[in-house]
Parts: sequence; structure tokens; C-alpha cells
Amino acid sequence: MAHYPDFHRRSIDDRDGFWREQAALIDWETPFSQVCAYSRPPFAHWFVGGRTNLCHNAVDRHAAQRPDAPALIWVSTEVDQEVVYSFRQLQREVERMAAILQDLGVKQGDRVLVYMPMTAEAAFTMLACARIGAVHSVVFGGFASHSLATRIDDAEPTVIVSSDAGSRGGKVVPYKPLLDEAITLAKHKPAAVLMVDRGLAPFSRVAGRDADYAELRARHIDAQVPCVWLESSEPSYTLYTSGTTGKPKGVQRDTGGYCVALAASMKHIYMGQPGETYFSTSDIGWVVGHSYIIYGPLIAGMATIMYEGLPTRPDAGVWWSLVEKYKVSVMFSAPTAARVLKKQDPAFLTRYNLSSLKALFLAGEPLDEPTATWISQAIGKPIIDNYWQTETGWPILAICNGVEPAPTKFGSPGKAVYGFDVRLIDETTAEEITEPGKKGVIAVEGPLPPGCLQTIWRDDERYVKTYWQSIHKRTMYSTFDWGVKDADGYFYILGRTDDVINVAGHRLGTREIEESISSHPNVAEVAVVGVADNLKGQVAMAFAVLKDPASAASPADALALEGEIMKLVDSQLGAVARPARVRFVSGLPKTRSGKLLRRAIQAVCELRDPGDLTTIEDPSALQQIRELVTPA
Ligand code: AMP
Repeated sequence: MAHYPDFHRRSIDDRDGFWREQAALIDWETPFSQVCAYSRPPFAHWFVGGRTNLCHNAVDRHAAQRPDAPALIWVSTEVDQEVVYSFRQLQREVERMAAILQDLGVKQGDRVLVYMPMTAEAAFTMLACARIGAVHSVVFGGFASHSLATRIDDAEPTVIVSSDAGSRGGKVVPYKPLLDEAITLAKHKPAAVLMVDRGLAPFSRVAGRDADYAELRARHIDAQVPCVWLESSEPSYTLYTSGTTGKPKGVQRDTGGYCVALAASMKHIYMGQPGETYFSTSDIGWVVGHSYIIYGPLIAGMATIMYEGLPTRPDAGVWWSLVEKYKVSVMFSAPTAARVLKKQDPAFLTRYNLSSLKALFLAGEPLDEPTATWISQAIGKPIIDNYWQTETGWPILAICNGVEPAPTKFGSPGKAVYGFDVRLIDETTAEEITEPGKKGVIAVEGPLPPGCLQTIWRDDERYVKTYWQSIHKRTMYSTFDWGVKDADGYFYILGRTDDVINVAGHRLGTREIEESISSHPNVAEVAVVGVADNLKGQVAMAFAVLKDPASAASPADALALEGEIMKLVDSQLGAVARPARVRFVSGLPKTRSGKLLRRAIQAVCELRDPGDLTTIEDPSALQQIRELVTPA
């Protein structure tokens, strides 16, 4: 067993030697000639010349050795179904899906947009794209037509794969009408829409465009579609994430680097072994779903549970019953889910045999100490917080117990992960902070390790400007998170430096929500801020200035207008982005140069001191907000 600080140091000082060793964890059709090309910083090219395939590494190589071992365990408590696919069965389904996509005109490099609930067919689609070298772009099913249309226009997919409906808490959530509307709104029109009909919601088909999965699957039932060997840097997927502008960023991932990074993380961080079962409770619409529902566990030869449903239905024991039934060894969830369970009867957590479980990993948002302590005691297992972003694809900070076991410290996601040269930077001087306990921006020296974003889809300039030029005078990758480090090298996250908020582990851009609210004909101006919430970590709060203030003069009128605006956000962006409240004000607090004082609004909403207000133009605007949010 290595000493972790040495392991980390070597990953930085002997980058090529370190990653050459990790690259042996996956199969290469053609070996690479260079480990990392970094002649054009900040663009890193990992495993130059090597040819590989994500689907081969996730499915085929295991199907050849352990064809009957379970690979994909699909469980839906929404439609009460459970299907276990062995590696061989998964390979067959993926080949069928690959043949269908080819039949619909998808070629290597083409984009396939996936707008689907948590079904096995969504996994087949992602893996089929990887198999034929198409670039998948999964859009979270909770997003509505406007969000979807923006992503369709950016990705320009040849084909969109979707379903009639998802289901949440037993209630059918139709997808097709939202998709149809999005395609109408978008400038780009896909050549075909492949519909997986679950029989949940009737829908209308567009002749000549909409194809039926069941019919095409039957046609391609015996299809054999070989994996296309891709050069390591060829893109595997794009995944949209929110930033400081209203336009989402298409995080672009490579093939070889991502495959190696995931294989290494399964060994050194998550400690999953072939033949064991991994259960991540995320959704394929998020990065965790890509890395640790689909690719990571399968690359490691593990079975992966894909779960459609709530953590509390039929009761709060459902996840733990799956741990017992499928002998889950590694589980991955989000702090919000733990907080939801905390509200239920704790007996549900001890009813099942959890002896197979090694640890519960939590990520995506700050993990508060009471929740961590509670869940750790309730299930009697170690809780491992880990910190990362859509951009990195795998953890930046964690405890790498697979390298050398180390204690966790509640409130901290751990130390810098191997491959990441993490620094804390003083915002004003751009100097590195070495003093324990002093706050700075968490930044990473280039090159980023394998698996991280290559660029923003079709926008190298935005990639460089956004991530590598935000720290004054230095070319470093900014995470846009504040942090501190203690004397032992453990980091603590103190929140975002930008206008991104985190609701129940879901990342949302306040600008996107503001743009949606502004499209209401009665809204002149609006500010959206993230406010601390006991359950969801943060919620969005909106303060709007109306064109016709008289229309919300009475409490009943204000409530009706608030409901109307929330409905508008639901229909454009989806319920995930809906603010907790929309309050009406006569003006917004701004600086004399017209800049919105979001941090001051946020502080006031959290009943904190808003700090230095010397630049404020009109203090009464902030006072008005204070009066609205202060409990009577
Ligand atoms: P996303 O790209 O949606 O995964 O969101 C990434 C952001 O979530 C980070 O920049 C952090 O602000 C936050 N985040 C992720 N993991 C953690 C964690 N373990 N602790 C605190 N914040 C986290």
C-alpha cells in the first residue's frame, strides 16, 4: 500500500509515469504514443494516438469473460418492475440500439440527444453511442421545453431519443409534449426522434420523423455492431451545465482519458471490485449518472443499479432493501437524500442486512455535519464526502482509501485527489495561500488530469476565458468555489464565487431563472439568489419589479401573480428551477454603476449582515427586501 502524500506527489511530478500505469486498467486497441500532450495550454490531450472504446471497456470485455454476471440492474418503484441484464444481455441490447441509431442515420461524431427517464433503454442509448463513436448529450428529464430547445440548438443532434413519459411518486410525467414543443422552438431540427413507448402516456407521432423503438428493435434483433476504435481525444459526450450567463455550457469529454480516469477512481477512491454491485442514486441527466451509474461501475466490471423512483416510496427502507437484495458494496448519493431520510422513521435504516456495504459516498453539495453523523450512525458505515464538478467528471477532493486508508473529518470532502494540483488562491493578490484556515478560491494548476472537460462544445474561447482566465494574472483552472485548508491538507468548501446555486445537489444558474422570469410580460426586472435551506441545501428566491405594480397590490393578487410566474418557470425550465418564492419589490439593490448586489440580497435573506454597503445606490431597496423576509 502506498503512502498517499507520495502517491499524490508522484501523480504531479511524474505525471506521465503515473498515468501510464493507470492506463493499463483499460483495454487499448492501439497503444498510445504519448501520455500527455500539453503544448497548447490549457488544452490537454491525453494518451495521444491510443485507440479505445468506452463501450468495449464497460461491456464487451466483461461479456467475453463473465457473460452471465449481472451488469445492469434496473429497478423501478414507479412502475413496479425489476430487470437484471447480464453483461452478455447488455451487450446484445446495446448492439440492437447501435444498429437502430445507425439505421436512423447516426454516424461517428454525430450527436444524439437523450431526453429520457431512468430506464434501461437510456443506458442502452448512451452505451450504443459510445459503441459507434456518436456523441451523446443527455438532458435531465426534469428540464422543460425552453431549456431543452437551447440544448438542441447547441448540440445539433441527428437523432433525439426519448420516451412517452417518466413517473414521479406514482404520477405520470409526460415527456413527449415538452419534446415536441422544444423541437418547434429550436432552430435545429433532428432528422429523427426515436420513441421508447412505455405505455404510460398516449402521445402523437410526427409522421416521417418519429420512429418506434419496439418496431426497430425487432428489426435489428440479431444485429452485431462492432465497437468503433476511437482516438483517445475523440469526444464521447457533452453534458450541459449552468454557468454565470443564461447560456448553458456543453462540457465536452474525451474517450481515452475519461475511461482511464474512471477506472482509476473505481480502484483508488470507490474501491469497487469486479462482481460486486454499485448503487448510485443519481440520475443519468447529471454527471454522477454518467460517471457512476453508467460508465465507472461497468468499466470496473461491477453490476450497477439504475433506480427509478423516490427514496421514500413505498417506504424509506427501499434503498436499503436493494442494498441487501443485490449485496451492494459501494453506494453513492447526495446529502439532500440523506436529509430526506433523516425525516423518516430511523427504523427503516436498520431493518435490512447492510453487511455487504463498505461505504456510503456523498457528493454534489455541502455535507453538513449533523446529517453526516446521523446517517453514519444510522447505517453503521463510513460516510465519505467527495467534491467534484460536472467539468471534472470525477473527484477533485476525496479520501483515497484505496491507496491508503485515512480518517475522514466531518465537514471536509478530504484532500486533493491524485492528478489534481489543487491550490488555494487569494482573490485579490492571486498569490497562493499556504496558511491553514485562510479563505481562497480553489484552483487547479494545468494540465487537468485525464477525464476532465476538454473544452466547451464548439467554444474553445469560452472554455479558456471562463475557466482559465478568471484568476487575475494566472492561467489556472478555477472551480469557482471558495475554500479553506487545514494543517493536515483537508479542504473545506465555503460556497460558490459566482452566481451558480445548488438546489438539492442540482446546479442551477440564477441568470437562467432570471431570464425565464423576465419573459413574463409584467416583469420589468428581477434578481434571483440562492438562500440556505435546511432540506435542499439552497433554494432559489426571486425578487421582481413589476411593470404594473398595482396588479400585485393586494396579497391575493400578489399570490396569484407569483403562481403564474412559477408556472412560467416550470414550463420553460422545469420544476427543478422553480424559485421557492417570488416576491414583488419596487426596486432592486444595486451599486452606483448599476451592478446588482446579489450577495447583499442573499445575506439579508439568510438574516446575515450584508457587509460593506458603501457602493449601494438606494439602501431602501435592500431594506424593503429585509422587511419581506424577516419573520414577523
Ligand atoms: P455540479 O457540476 O452540478 O456537480 O456542481 C458542482 C458544484 O457543486 C461544485 O462547484 C460545488 O459548488 C458543489 N459541490 C459538489 N460537491 C460538493 C461537496 N462534496 N461539498 C461541497 N460542495 C460540493
